[in-house]
Amino acid sequence: MATLHLGQILSFDGSPFEDGHDAAWHERHGGLVEDGGKILALGPAEAMRAAHPFAGIVDHGEGLILPGFVDAHAHYPQTGMIASWGKRLIDWLNHYTFPEEMRFADPAYAHEIAGRYLDLLLAHGTTSVCSYCTIHPGSVDALFEAAEARGMRVFAGKTCMDRDTAPEGLRDSAQSAYDDSKALLARWHGKGRASYVITPRFSPTSTVAQLEALGALWAEHPDCLMQTHLSEQTDEIAWVKSLYPQARDYLDTYESYGLLRPGGLFGHAIHLEPRERGRLRETGAALVHCPTSNTFIGSGLFDMDGLTKEGQIVGLATDTGGGSSFSMLRTMAAAYEIAQLRHRPLHASELLWLATQGSARALRVADRIGNLAPGMEADFIVLDLASTPAIAQRSARAEDIWEALFPTIMMGDDRAIVETRVAGKRL
Ligand SMILES: [Zn+2]
Repeated sequence: MATLHLGQILSFDGSPFEDGHDAAWHERHGGLVEDGGKILALGPAEAMRAAHPFAGIVDHGEGLILPGFVDAHAHYPQTGMIASWGKRLIDWLNHYTFPEEMRFADPAYAHEIAGRYLDLLLAHGTTSVCSYCTIHPGSVDALFEAAEARGMRVFAGKTCMDRDTAPEGLRDSAQSAYDDSKALLARWHGKGRASYVITPRFSPTSTVAQLEALGALWAEHPDCLMQTHLSEQTDEIAWVKSLYPQARDYLDTYESYGLLRPGGLFGHAIHLEPRERGRLRETGAALVHCPTSNTFIGSGLFDMDGLTKEGQIVGLATDTGGGSSFSMLRTMAAAYEIAQLRHRPLHASELLWLATQGSARALRVADRIGNLAPGMEADFIVLDLASTPAIAQRSARAEDIWEALFPTIMMGDDRAIVETRVAGKRL
């Protein structure tokens, strides 16, 4: 049976980066009709009531109905070690990340964390995520099974590492990475809302043979996404140069082995050289900005203005647990702060677009999730624009929806998420 959700509604007609801040539709007294997990219609409340007289009604009052947030880069196995103190990337991996990831050899532990992680996402209004798992195939099964139980559209893949820069106990081989990834892809890709993502962690922990094997697998399955890391820290880039002396630059360590094409997701992409920017744009690969991670690990300032102006595809992500929050609200705030340090104040519409349509576009599902429109999947949230006294007193004097939303972006957290719906179902 159809359900009519009443409340404020905000959706996008275009990209605010390309079409301006008015490329959005806001209805103060709106109605969204959901049926069978899809959005059937949306418009002014009275028109929706008249057109759908038999729909059940859920009245969200002053709540703002938005598309669920889409987190385009995360590491669910790092849930338990988020906010670990005091290290930069390479030491942080060795001291905190790798020991934790070893625990995922135990399928029971993987299931426990996968369920905990997805419940944290839903509490923070995130309905879709693209996550790394660990080298253990069971860690992938655990996440997809937990996503299936909740009905969530989740993208994930087995992290591949076969170089001796990764610790004993957390290494596969070129052949096993190919075989395991291929078997997981066959098991999960396109099953319900699951999408398999080919996942070399990054070139410093893979041999050329492994990168080639994964490039070959991607060529066999070009509809899959491929995720990895690129140019996060300057000492990491120097390390890549020492491991791949023949490479023209960091991106070349992927490009040379078949790992640069549409559907490529390159996390961080901070310290890019001109050739890298040119090739990323030409190929239509996506860059994923992880602002809380970039400040937390001390990586650098992403060039949002320059990259979006030159037509790069950019998504937004937490990079949990290098990132310091599960919240895409906090992530939008950090994106704003980083852009301010580069003298480009991102508008609330741009921040919200990055956390929804931008990430969905990077994941090549912008026609299905990340916006509210007839025919799209009914993943949406209800946001309280006055969730704390501090936010309420500021939003009360707002003169338009963007000014009303911005205090929640800057100061809000999971308390602002009144309700999260996945395929229409309240979770
Ligand atoms: Zn990452």
